Amino acid sequence: MNRADFPILSEKVYNRELVYLDNAATTQKPQVVLDAMMYGYTHFNANIHRGVHYLSQVATAHHEEARERVARFIGARSGKEIIFTKGTTDSINMLAYSFGEAEVREGDEIIVSYLEHHSNIVPWQMLCERKKAILKVIPLKEDLTIDVEAFRALLSDRTRLVSIAQVSNVLGTLNPIEAIIRIAHERHVPVCIDGAQSAPHMKIDVQELDCDFFVCSAHKMYAPTGLGVLYGKEQWLQSLPPAEGGGEMIEHVRFEHTTYNTLPYKFEAGTPDFIGTYALAAALDYLDGIGMDKIREHERELTRYCEEQLAGIPEVVVYAAGQDKYGAVSFNVRSERVIHPFDVGTLLDHQGIAVRTGHHCAEPLIDYLGVPGTVRVSFGLYNEKEDVDRFVEALKKAIGMLE
Ligand code: PMP
Repeated sequence: MNRADFPILSEKVYNRELVYLDNAATTQKPQVVLDAMMYGYTHFNANIHRGVHYLSQVATAHHEEARERVARFIGARSGKEIIFTKGTTDSINMLAYSFGEAEVREGDEIIVSYLEHHSNIVPWQMLCERKKAILKVIPLKEDLTIDVEAFRALLSDRTRLVSIAQVSNVLGTLNPIEAIIRIAHERHVPVCIDGAQSAPHMKIDVQELDCDFFVCSAHKMYAPTGLGVLYGKEQWLQSLPPAEGGGEMIEHVRFEHTTYNTLPYKFEAGTPDFIGTYALAAALDYLDGIGMDKIREHERELTRYCEEQLAGIPEVVVYAAGQDKYGAVSFNVRSERVIHPFDVGTLLDHQGIAVRTGHHCAEPLIDYLGVPGTVRVSFGLYNEKEDVDRFVEALKKAIGMLE
């Protein structure tokens, strides 16, 4: 779908046509996004919010329009609820610091799940160390789905926050976040959704989900790298303290006492990536132009087709096999033992197929699977069944060489 919009996809690797199946790590950029970056630097590059001069006002207007664009894309009430960050990791760290300062005391509890990315584990662990709080982990059922009943039992009067991925970056599966949010809210516990792997693949509506916080990365959504979003319900963001100090986040600075800016600026210290936000808005226009529902169905179909093809290779073990997947499929090759995923990935690479191998920044889940890592193929809107066919053919060849 729309492959011709992505110049990099015509690059050759090892003199072969590139099959890019590492979209969960980062996506390629369409020409409209590349053009937007070039346009920004060519026509309105000036620091925002501070200048009375023309270019600064144009740059500020674009940046604030981009904020409203993001708000519309994820269904937020207004741009006040959209904080621009450096990415999902930065968003979660900011939240862990800010929320932790205001809401977490010794003996309190934070809940994450077993299949989280390190970005949604370590910042909470660091908070727990700082505050002498306790990190609790929702276990998985045998089929690698989240154990919702176990989650219910984990909640206590000391639970302060739940943070969980919408889509697993390893398994590609959709977590039951509607149930998690409903159950947490019955106990008045707020929920943060890690949308790094969902926002590129499906329509997000934070109001419908009723999550309290939502985080995602622009670079996984066909937009520039170094940029992300922290959404928070306005009443939460109003009550939380800033995570970082500096320019723009202040109202007045005196050595005796500093007062803070209004939302969302209170959380945005320093010069933001205003060219990046302009290009992000172009990426969101591009995605909505295709339609997120169409993208979701296209990628679901690709993962289904991929799994069907993999099922025909006896040495391949797919994780969470048969479950609906949103963009990613993880597997290993076993003959007498698990063949190391690096070996499989290297042999695929030499045939022009870019996949991810290793622990995918989710070591607890990989340990739980009892393997050294997995091979992950992950799809973007521009992938087609022919990419799967070339990958499967290359995989069969690789297995032949490894056995
Ligand atoms: N959470 C999940 C589920 C992810 O897949 C990723 C990226 N692999 C992250 C968080 C971190 O995103 P970033 O590196 O863009 O900050």
